[in-house]
Amino acid sequence: MVVDRINFLKDAINKANYLYYVEDNPSISDFEYDKLFAELKELEQEHPELKTPDSPTQRVGSVSEKFFPYTHKYRLYSLDNTYDYSELERWYEKFEKEYGNNVELVCELKIDGLAIALTYEKGLFVRGVTRGDGVTGEDITNNLKTIKAIPLRLFDPVDIEVRGEIYMPKTSFEKLNKENLEMGEKLFANPRNAAAGSIRQLDSTITAKRDLSMFTYTAIFENIDNPPKTHYDSLMYLKKLGFRINNNVELCKDIKCAIDYCKKWENKRNDLDYATDGVVIKVNSLAYQEDLGFTSRAPKWATAFKFPPEEVTTVLKDIEISMGKSGAVTPVAILEPVQLGGSTVARASLHNFDEVKRLDVRIGDRVLIKKAAEIIPKVVKVVDDAHHYNLPVYTPPEYCPSCNAKLVTRPGEVGLFCENSHCADQIKARIEFWASKDAMDIDKVGPAIIQQLYDKGFITSPLDLYNLTIDDFLKLDLVKEKSATNMYNSIQKSKENSLKRLLTAFAIRNVGKETAEILSEEYGTIDNLCKADVEELAKIKYIGPIVAKDIYDFFHNEQNLKMIEELKKLGINPAPAAVAESDELKGKTFVLTGTLQNMTRDEAGEKIRQMGGKTSSTVSKNTSYVVVGENPGSKFDKAKKLGVIILSEDEFMKMIKQ
Ligand code: NAD
Repeated sequence: MVVDRINFLKDAINKANYLYYVEDNPSISDFEYDKLFAELKELEQEHPELKTPDSPTQRVGSVSEKFFPYTHKYRLYSLDNTYDYSELERWYEKFEKEYGNNVELVCELKIDGLAIALTYEKGLFVRGVTRGDGVTGEDITNNLKTIKAIPLRLFDPVDIEVRGEIYMPKTSFEKLNKENLEMGEKLFANPRNAAAGSIRQLDSTITAKRDLSMFTYTAIFENIDNPPKTHYDSLMYLKKLGFRINNNVELCKDIKCAIDYCKKWENKRNDLDYATDGVVIKVNSLAYQEDLGFTSRAPKWATAFKFPPEEVTTVLKDIEISMGKSGAVTPVAILEPVQLGGSTVARASLHNFDEVKRLDVRIGDRVLIKKAAEIIPKVVKVVDDAHHYNLPVYTPPEYCPSCNAKLVTRPGEVGLFCENSHCADQIKARIEFWASKDAMDIDKVGPAIIQQLYDKGFITSPLDLYNLTIDDFLKLDLVKEKSATNMYNSIQKSKENSLKRLLTAFAIRNVGKETAEILSEEYGTIDNLCKADVEELAKIKYIGPIVAKDIYDFFHNEQNLKMIEELKKLGINPAPAAVAESDELKGKTFVLTGTLQNMTRDEAGEKIRQMGGKTSSTVSKNTSYVVVGENPGSKFDKAKKLGVIILSEDEFMKMIKQ
């Protein structure tokens, strides 16, 4: 019955609203919430007689009783949303019909925090109130005063009410959760909940300790001469008054341009240090905005395009054991496949068995999984329900599932380890790592091929790869002449790799690709590294005494030295990094980020060194230039923050050609 479904949806949404707005502890993902909400809205449209004034579709948010309630002078609304580009086009068509072609739009990132209304009288901050249910919010003025991005005095003595989003930077959220974990306190599910929980503290000193910030995105002007006529101009005016405006705002001449903006940010959002769950698209003309007005819960002149979900709940079907290259045995969540961040996800990381215990995940649980900057999604928490307590508590394995050796813990390290260096899964993991992208980058030789090569007895160590013939590959299932030749060639080509790649492939404890780069720059050859002592290694920037000892031990282990000799016999002994052939770039340090079109980053680095310059993997005040290719990483943001000169690939090419 429709009425039963409507009642079910109302109950589910009301329950979710309470947990999300009042407890800051959501039980379902935003995507699932939006699906329930959209279904309720559709049913109410089809059966208007069943729509009641208390339906969640008629209301905004919720107010808690923690703070003094304050009735807003101007109501705060929510936003309609869609996950679908064609719906955006239909939304825009209405404006074109009404106002003619090319109705200008403003695109802004939808910051995933909580909405706040700030009142200024004669330029002084007098009050800050949460959105609450849109009519009444919570007065949290004192807490807001602790946030530096909120000006206490404006540059002009105007009366104004502004709206913005309070948020917690992603790095601060991770740090806060890490501290909370150490203190045994509650963990926040995401930066939005952390921001909401931090700003709604009864003790302002706690709020002051949390790293919160704010982007302002709307204003209501009360007594200014010549008020702005467009939304874009009002943002520029707010900036002049001293408010923090997100600098990715873009003016668009039509919906096509707005959709391009959405597509661009769907890919780039993980480069930002704040969470954004979509794009808010607003009609630019304030006269049109006034004409269009509001529905019971949202403006008709704005809508949100939501990015595909990065958080979703699903069922944990099993916990699989995965073997790492150094013998670490880790749990992997096997999931009921779900759509997440634009792809189907069936596996997620559970980090280690301590994490499984902390989360108390049990096979059969409904779990929240999340995909952020990580490539592999992770299990964030169990979605609490009675069913959980009927499931057996998970017990970690005692013996290696591959070789049956007793698993052990290692002093100073988290998790369980298999100490048997002849363990088949461990050997395969070492070979897989050797061939992986960050290490020797052996194209086409992935885990499935390595598994077959191992099972047929062709390889038992990474070095065996170099003795394989094309005929060996042809003995594998489904491998034809062309791919056998390709695999053979990519293995042979990897012999010419840089020292950085080889050092990464060695998988020395605590040495990742960044440290491998530092070592290759400092020492140039394997032979030099073999001669380095601990004190000398520990003096290198970013290498502490523990890592120095790990490096020293690796190059003083008999077995490893034997392997190095064998590598040399195979022709794998990277030459010293290029000796400077000129000094045009002398004294200049470069950091490379993103994909370059004309050369690989390794080649660009080589060129810089040939011209007397230096490369580094981290951006600091001492960096001279950051060269930015396509899809740059966080180094680009850091460069902007530190004011380091940024070069496009074209500018860099010109510089090295001069
Ligand atoms: P919303 O968050 O989807 O959109 C409206 C809000 O967007 C505004 O109030 C404002 O705070 C924010 N915003 C961010 N950047 C903005 C910008 N540049 N311009 C204008 N506004 C901007 O709507 P809502 O009413 O706050 O909450 C509903 C949403 O919250 C749902 O769609 C869902 O995603 C989430 N929610 C989730 C649960 C859950 O259990 N997971 C429960 C309730 C709500």
